[in-house]
Amino acid sequence: MKYPRMTIDLSIIRNNVKTIVELCNKQDIKIAGVTKVFCGNPEIAKAYIDGGVSYLADSRIENLIRMKDLDIPKIMLRLPMKSEAEYIVEYVDISLNSELETIKLLSEKAMEKNKIHKIILMVDLGDLREGFYEEDSLLDCIENIISLKGIEIIGLGTNLTCYGGVIPTEEVLNRLVKLERQIEEKYNIELEILSGGNSSTVHLVENCKINGLNNLRLGESLILGIETAYGEQIKDTDDGGFRLQAEIIEVKEKPSVPIGEIGKDAFGNVPTFIDRGIRKRILCAIGKQDIDFDGLYPLDSGITILGGSSDHLILDSSDSEINYKVGDIIEFKLSYVGILRAMTSEYIEKEIIK
Ligand SMILES: *Cc1c(COP(=O)(O)O)cnc(C)c1O
Repeated sequence: MKYPRMTIDLSIIRNNVKTIVELCNKQDIKIAGVTKVFCGNPEIAKAYIDGGVSYLADSRIENLIRMKDLDIPKIMLRLPMKSEAEYIVEYVDISLNSELETIKLLSEKAMEKNKIHKIILMVDLGDLREGFYEEDSLLDCIENIISLKGIEIIGLGTNLTCYGGVIPTEEVLNRLVKLERQIEEKYNIELEILSGGNSSTVHLVENCKINGLNNLRLGESLILGIETAYGEQIKDTDDGGFRLQAEIIEVKEKPSVPIGEIGKDAFGNVPTFIDRGIRKRILCAIGKQDIDFDGLYPLDSGITILGGSSDHLILDSSDSEINYKVGDIIEFKLSYVGILRAMTSEYIEKEIIK
């Protein structure tokens, strides 16, 4: 077998999706399953579809193209680059937008292909990443879009807890609902989608406090079963769908403090150490080029992560009951960002368990 290796258990993903989709559908909320964490792998995306999502959504056009043969509406999550407009109208049904210039270009490209491209306009409710911050500028933009022949506005969306860490509350999201009504009346259009954000909004669904919204774009909560505003595990979900396995290439007893003068490490930081005496240290053949050490959790609770470099992970196994040897495999759970990084590394073998 080839290592390092990521095992992906589709039955866990399917079950997480089913649990959360049912919870949301009961309140008339449809789910866009966010696929960026697994780079749009079509086999894993299929587990989202089997679990009942209504859309697939990704922030990278390459991933959306990879999923082109899956017959379900697709959403582009990141504001489109002007340079990719042609591919957006070709491979994507709906894109999230906030710049008139880009929207005009999307309209042109759509018309060239005899298509009408659907858009959701993003509203910034205070998290300060993408979206219209002032209502007047949003209304101005809509006035301009209405005359574009290649574009249809189908809804409003917002994004929270991404940059500013603003937690979605009923009050914050109510601003979006009010704005929708205002726009529908003023321009005599119907907005079918009101998209309330990411996995940090799931806590409102659990507490039935999500009046008016009818769409959520979820990644982390489907993959790990976690709502991200407060970091809690959602009932009947499992965080073990993705597991990482790394192989041991050295096991030795060594001091816990380096010998000699301490300078900068390979990443420009001056490291500090606590003297715990002689410890049993393990080297694994995986490193920062492949993974994020902060998002890595050994299944063996007797193992601690000491650090590492581009190609090496250093562990302390002195407190473990297992007598690890060279060639043994150490298994880890991962955070959402941990999964994202590992899935993106071409050095990690991916094994999908159906
Ligand atoms: C990534 C992303 C999401 C999904 O976020 P999760 O925290 O993974 O649920 C939703 N909306 C946008 C615009 C995104 O980029």
